[in-house]
Amino acid sequence: MNTSTQEIQHAATLLQQGDIVALPTETVYGLAGNALDLVAVNKIFEVKNRPLIDPLIVHIADLEQLNELATPHPMLEKLAEAFWPGALTLILPKTTKVPDLVTAGQPTVAIRMPSHPLFREVLKVSGLALAAPSANPFGYLSPSCAQHVQDSLGQKIPYVLDGGPCSIGIESTILDLSNKTPTVLRPGPITADELSAVLGVPVASKSKQAPEGEACTAPGLLKQHYSPHTPLTLLEAGNPFPQEILQQDRIACIHLRRPHTCLPQDNIQHFWMSESGDLTEVAQQLFSLLRMLDTQGYTRLYLEMPQAQGIGVALRDRLQRAAARA
Ligand code: AMP
Ligand code: MG
Repeated sequence: MNTSTQEIQHAATLLQQGDIVALPTETVYGLAGNALDLVAVNKIFEVKNRPLIDPLIVHIADLEQLNELATPHPMLEKLAEAFWPGALTLILPKTTKVPDLVTAGQPTVAIRMPSHPLFREVLKVSGLALAAPSANPFGYLSPSCAQHVQDSLGQKIPYVLDGGPCSIGIESTILDLSNKTPTVLRPGPITADELSAVLGVPVASKSKQAPEGEACTAPGLLKQHYSPHTPLTLLEAGNPFPQEILQQDRIACIHLRRPHTCLPQDNIQHFWMSESGDLTEVAQQLFSLLRMLDTQGYTRLYLEMPQAQGIGVALRDRLQRAAARA
């Protein structure tokens, strides 16, 4: 992927003019706009059809930029040294500079320093802090390559900067530092154990999933999110596929690794996210495979769940939301 200086400059110029553009990050593609420009931030919500009560993550190039947006925290230095630039978002008390629109009226702001070289270049050239939620219609699967963005938002935005497929493929870990105990609000590529090892204190994990049958107070808590249109059923690894699948019309079975044997049934097609079941590869492939299968007219997708270890915790979180029906 050879992205020219002109392409980076073009994206930066559009952003400086108050426009929004899709940019690659190492996690998923983001729909970026100047975080301090209300017009740009409004466009992000509008294009994504995102409810205004769902706050945005602000992306920065360096720690100097953070000081303008958030109040420093005693744990920040250690975390930034270990994980930034990278797939960690921190929730910190905000400064008055950050518009309430960005934080959905909350006194805290979500900040991340991404590692993708193109995103970093655009941050540097534009000199802006960039609000950038995933570049997908609200509730649908996140985009892990430029074509995904073109497919669902291409008509609505002036530019997509193509940085190839995302190296991680799922959204960042969100760590809340605004309370006494650091708390993971969204599991991601960086695990609670890794955070705890660096901080030398316990890190709590809070499932943001609303309890069954209860109304949600914010879309970030939605039980259903990251969902394909085709119904999805999750199967625990090692459990046999249920008998009911033999009777169904055209279904897809998605395995973690290439299966040794497959049921020889005309109505079933088999797919796998990694040859060997490596969960890093599974994360890279997950949204691409689900998006592709979502266009193939299957009546249902069956997917083998990873174990809740390492990035498997985050994968299970996304899959449970993808399979839930509101
Ligand atoms: P994304 O759509 O992947 O950019 O993720 C944004 C998510 O970050 C939101 O849906 C919230 O769950 C979370 N978030 C952003 N800002 C805050 C905040 N100030 N406090 C708590 N969670 C936040
Ligand atoms: Mg999103």
